[in-house]
Amino acid sequence: MNSGTKSKQLYERARAKIPGGVNSPVRAFGSVGGQPFFTASGEGARLRDVDGAEYIDYVLSWGPLILGHAHPLVNEAIERSVRKGTHYGTPTPEEVELAERVVALVPSIEMVRFVNSGTEATMSAVRLARAATGRDLILKFEGCYHGHGDSFLAKAGSGLATLGLPTSPGVPKEISGLTLTVPFNDRAAVEETLAQRGDQIAAVIVEPVVGNSGLIVPDPGYLQFLREESRRVGALLIFDEVMTGFRVALGGAQERYEVDPDLTALGKVIGAGFPVGAYGGKREYMSRVAPQGDVYQAGTLSGNPVAMAAGLAQLEVLEREDPYALLEQRAIRLVEGVIERARGRGIAASGTAVGSMWGVYFCEGPVRNFQDALRVDRDLFAAYHRYCLAGGVFFAPSPFEAGFLSTAHSDADIDETLRVVDESLAEATGQR
Ligand code: PMP
Repeated sequence: MNSGTKSKQLYERARAKIPGGVNSPVRAFGSVGGQPFFTASGEGARLRDVDGAEYIDYVLSWGPLILGHAHPLVNEAIERSVRKGTHYGTPTPEEVELAERVVALVPSIEMVRFVNSGTEATMSAVRLARAATGRDLILKFEGCYHGHGDSFLAKAGSGLATLGLPTSPGVPKEISGLTLTVPFNDRAAVEETLAQRGDQIAAVIVEPVVGNSGLIVPDPGYLQFLREESRRVGALLIFDEVMTGFRVALGGAQERYEVDPDLTALGKVIGAGFPVGAYGGKREYMSRVAPQGDVYQAGTLSGNPVAMAAGLAQLEVLEREDPYALLEQRAIRLVEGVIERARGRGIAASGTAVGSMWGVYFCEGPVRNFQDALRVDRDLFAAYHRYCLAGGVFFAPSPFEAGFLSTAHSDADIDETLRVVDESLAEATGQR
């Protein structure tokens, strides 16, 4: 159940020199107890840790690896690219090619700028929205996570939800005061806020499918409602598709739900495991970005050719194989399998899948917003997580994170996972 000897030793060394022993809080196993394992390598749907244990991986680098680990075509592209050097500080052909692909695939994006993370993408999109509207406020949704930019650390999901932090020290109240929050899937709350302060709001920013409080789907028509309402008050609609982009459909949630945001933030899948983010949208807005326009945003390593080559290779495979229907079918089988086994043992459970994103809550459904998600049985989840890990299945170490699936996960992997899930639920509830 505990991580092996080498992982333990590494964790001790890590904690002495790195805060919490990790370079991103969600990697620590704080909310499930135990310690993180240290990974030696990944292949397909599996991770191998430094002690030689193997895991079927549903974290997948927290989303980017939709083709699984070390996909041969992605690796080839990376190797070809890196032999030519790592970065030049001049434009390269790869950036142009990836930009063209993104514009072709994501319906609302007419121009795009590459950055190095999802955080940079959302921060830059908000800056642009503020410049375009001449307004300062933003409206976000409880339980949505948009990276660690100061403006977004208000009632955020992901690591903050896992650690139970409402916001963060170090964010000046003058900045947090510019962020308004409302519950997701709540029309009245949006109407009320817009009625009071709509003329001061630069942007409504939303995860169209919320992946940072578990997995929450928008009510039918809710995203269209946000589109209409933001337009009505003169605010830009920003879709944060860092997680959903190229995951719930090739063209992201905006394609799947047929909504036309003004700006979109991308990350994760677009870099195939390299530090890549992007923001894009209507030409009218994107042409304001420096040096074409006056809204400043820059990055020494932005558009890194190795990262661009990796992203391009991954998108090419996705375009060719169009795996989304199959991914969703398998994800639904997984979710329904977990729910059935939980209920069979008297545990309340609900959940769903959208494309290759999935989530199970150990509580009665429906879960329509973050408040609902807080009903989960956290102790049960923690025990379940530990037993699953010991059985060779790696789920995100938090009940407030979406699960992912890759094209490398076979039906046999899902069968094996459900066997481990069943045993883990039995152990966690003392039924064994
Ligand atoms: N937006 C969303 C929806 C995310 O899920 C994340 C990361 N999980 C981010 C933004 C931030 O991306 P990054 O961690 O690359 O800064």
